[in-house]
Amino acid sequence: MRYTGHPLVDAGVAAITAHAGRERPEDLTPGDLEAWAATSLRLYASETAKLAMNQLFTKNFAYIHPSMKPPRRIEETSALLYAWRDGHPGTDRCAYCGQAALPDRVHRDRVPLLEGRERMNFGPGGVAGLLVCGSCRLALQALVLAAPVASSKVTVMETPDPRLRLEVYGRWVRTGLEYAERSLLTGEKLTVPLGPLATVVDTLAEVYAQAEDKAAERPDAPAARESVATPAVTVYAFSNSGQGPTVDVYRLPSPVVEWLRVSQSHRLRATWAMLVRRAHERHKDAWGRAVAALPLGVERFVRFQFMPFVRLFREDAVAVDSGPIRAYELAQRLLEGVVGVRGERIRAIEELAARLGEEISGHGEIRVYREMFQRNVRYYQEVRQLLLRANMRRIRRGDPPLMGLEGFVTVFDEGIDETPRVDWRLAWDLTLLAVAERLWAAGWFRAHADLVPQVDEEGGGDDLETDHMQGGSEAWRS
Ligand SMILES: [Zn+2]
Repeated sequence: MRYTGHPLVDAGVAAITAHAGRERPEDLTPGDLEAWAATSLRLYASETAKLAMNQLFTKNFAYIHPSMKPPRRIEETSALLYAWRDGHPGTDRCAYCGQAALPDRVHRDRVPLLEGRERMNFGPGGVAGLLVCGSCRLALQALVLAAPVASSKVTVMETPDPRLRLEVYGRWVRTGLEYAERSLLTGEKLTVPLGPLATVVDTLAEVYAQAEDKAAERPDAPAARESVATPAVTVYAFSNSGQGPTVDVYRLPSPVVEWLRVSQSHRLRATWAMLVRRAHERHKDAWGRAVAALPLGVERFVRFQFMPFVRLFREDAVAVDSGPIRAYELAQRLLEGVVGVRGERIRAIEELAARLGEEISGHGEIRVYREMFQRNVRYYQEVRQLLLRANMRRIRRGDPPLMGLEGFVTVFDEGIDETPRVDWRLAWDLTLLAVAERLWAAGWFRAHADLVPQVDEEGGGDDLETDHMQGGSEAWRS
């Protein structure tokens, strides 16, 4: 077997390679393929596998064909799973890998998303269907057990990096076989609990977490940490069943995948887990869709995924038993890595946050706290005024200003006629997050718990986080 460059075939090849414990598909032996075919045939009897067959190959797939008698179903399926053993002397080539193809042409019931048997749409030479070799047929069959069915969509992931592909399909094939075994015993149709994108993002996070753990075990081998690359990933979520086959295609660019890797470092993993858990509670693909919208939706992403932390910090409701919470750092790594926010701007925000935090906790400026957290800032001028007022108080006290003009221009302002930068809101959200996290880490909210309940009395529905939370759930519903 070999990789072909076709995402569906390569998914199956990776699954069979991982199942056999091989590093490369070229290393697979006939014994490995025999073992895979036998396991498949046994587990095809499970309801979980039958559900996947219907999604992948329509109800006309031999094993579940409504008008075939059971012995013939098994016979035809078995012929398909072992077709790679039959050498074929013809000159026709496989459409995927270029090896000698089997003489019969395959259709929608053997290859997902092809035309049906009777449809002759764009068939070369007026002949419909594709010529495919035995091992590519076996690879496509492997999708039954290796491609997760998530929210009624078959999920396939493609990446140019063979190592990452093998890691992902190794996990998916393990889960697929486990579900099919359990389904054989109980008769349940088991499918993955999350949507297609969340399933992919979760699996990638698992792969990078494990690589990080392995690297931590062997600090003397720096190469181990980099062992799994962070290339772009394409996700296909499709259904071939019924009259209207559909496929949704999503792309996670390399910087987003790199951010997933960074998020699995020991420093940031607990924060990531908390973000993901909150998103999953709302919708089973919310987190996946939000990540897949990056980098374009970054402003929305920070508002709806990170800003709820501000409320949690204020209520002192952040669980720390699973590890340190560093929401600001995770957001900052996203902005630097994914949208290229410059380091000097990040540093200016941090400096401003440190001074604002000092105003509140060091100088007891409850006014600054109220203006920042108990008002729902909608216009840039409000931020500007708020900072100017705080600045004046500092200068009267004899302290250096919150930030110089240069810093202000770097973070918020175009520097001409008080025109805000287009992303002033993102910078302000990040400032709020940084200040709230500092105050929380210093125990300030715990010591000033009396201030938080007042928020609801005074601010009513106009409170900052109420706004965020409402906006957030709308985003999750859509
Ligand atoms: Zn082939």
